[in-house]
Amino acid sequence: MTGFTQLEEIPKIHAALRKTFRSGITKPIAWRRHQLHQLARLAQENADEIADCIYKDLGRPKQEAIMGDVAAVIERSLIVASNLEEWAKPEEPTVQPWQQSWNTRVEKQPKGVALIISPWNYPFILSVQPLYGAISAGCCAVIKPSEFSPHVSAFLAKAIPKYLEASAYKVILGAVPEITRVLELKWDHIFYTGNGRVARIISAAAAKHLTPTTLELGGKSPVLVDSSADIDISAKRILWGKVNNSGQICVAPDYILAEKAIVPQLIDSIKKHSQDFFPDGALVSKSYGKIVTDAHFNRLKGLLQRSKGKVVLGGQWDEKTRGIEPTVVIVEEEDALLEDELFGPILPILPVESIDEALQYLQDRDYPLILYGFSNNKVNKQKILDATMSGAVAFGDTFQTVAVNEVPFGGVGESGHGSQNLKYSYDSFSYLRPVFDIPFQDEQFFGARYPPYSEKSLEFFSALLKAPIPKI
Ligand code: NAD
Repeated sequence: MTGFTQLEEIPKIHAALRKTFRSGITKPIAWRRHQLHQLARLAQENADEIADCIYKDLGRPKQEAIMGDVAAVIERSLIVASNLEEWAKPEEPTVQPWQQSWNTRVEKQPKGVALIISPWNYPFILSVQPLYGAISAGCCAVIKPSEFSPHVSAFLAKAIPKYLEASAYKVILGAVPEITRVLELKWDHIFYTGNGRVARIISAAAAKHLTPTTLELGGKSPVLVDSSADIDISAKRILWGKVNNSGQICVAPDYILAEKAIVPQLIDSIKKHSQDFFPDGALVSKSYGKIVTDAHFNRLKGLLQRSKGKVVLGGQWDEKTRGIEPTVVIVEEEDALLEDELFGPILPILPVESIDEALQYLQDRDYPLILYGFSNNKVNKQKILDATMSGAVAFGDTFQTVAVNEVPFGGVGESGHGSQNLKYSYDSFSYLRPVFDIPFQDEQFFGARYPPYSEKSLEFFSALLKAPIPKI
């Protein structure tokens, strides 16, 4: 396909990056800092073009592109650049007294040449956020952006060599044949963001070379609402989390488990806020995006057709623009809308008797990327924390939590492993290498370890056999 990287070029790109990494140019802190500043500059100087590419790929409004992709990249690249020196310092652990002369430290080494595979839904930040991790750690990297966001992918291929050191950071464009060729090669770290099905292909390819991976995946992120919550604010915040990027966000609220008593009020409030957000209807609103491809549009349409639930809001779509209205459906347990991650603006509500019933439902399911709780009841909040597992937990709001830079962002179990964000991105691409420097003068202390062994030397090493162990 035109614009895609030629298959025979791929091993050459890989070899060139390995050569650059071996040359050592990516290691000095000042060099890395400069590249991070260039990355921030790339986002800042091209903000309009990036927003335009995102609009062409996803129909996403400019405000959402600036907020979710461009501004966050500028902010985070600059924060990483200013903290890098501190993070890269060797750690000096407190060791046992008899080891104190060994100058033991833990150095942070770049893992080497990294592969970053990114998806279409946040095509700029999800390519560039792992990249600032790789740069800050001192790695070389290839980005393989998604074939389903071709405008952003082409922009990255054009802008990255212009702003960053072209011999260290490359973009490979393509779809399954190209990524399959890429995955045959040995990388030092693979950072994949996308769905669990492809993650299994990536993991199998990585396993052949024992390559470590970070897997940023998705899944069904549930929302629990109990009767103590402020229902009106809950409805507004849940709806906002669902309509952003037309629900095509890994942390979008996937479905609601709500206590039966408050379901009618919750629906009324969601309807009211939907009307306020999109007074002339979402399908004609400039503040509402579209579904990325015909395949995803048809998947969502098919789900609505298969659902046996009752549509209480929306339910209309527009084939021409690939728009789907924010759609709320009251469902029962075995409904089609509760099967896989929805990744679109459809919001099923499953009424439950109590939070306990909701927690039982969750315990039978995969660990989600994030779990949302809307409650004013301390006991219920603690129960939710104690009874569940998830990448993160947020009480009181939805998508907004991704603006907190200082916590690890990642999943657990089916929602992935490893994490990113500022120092966590740096850590993902760094290897912690312990270094020891044992003085020759310490030889005098080592007599007992050498053969021939004796009763006396055995006694020396047996002291711990008599160490007191607490009875509790
Ligand atoms: P996608 O279809 O763009 O795929 C992601 C990447 O995988 C692309 O670069 C694509 O080329 C590559 N790919 C596709 N088929 C492949 C194959 N057979 N072998 C190797 N690579 C292949 O995006 P997607 O997977 O539809 O993205 C949506 C999913 O990503 C959702 O599940 C969402 O929850 C998840 N997601 C997670 C995060 C996170 O940070 N945890 C962020 C965004 C999206």
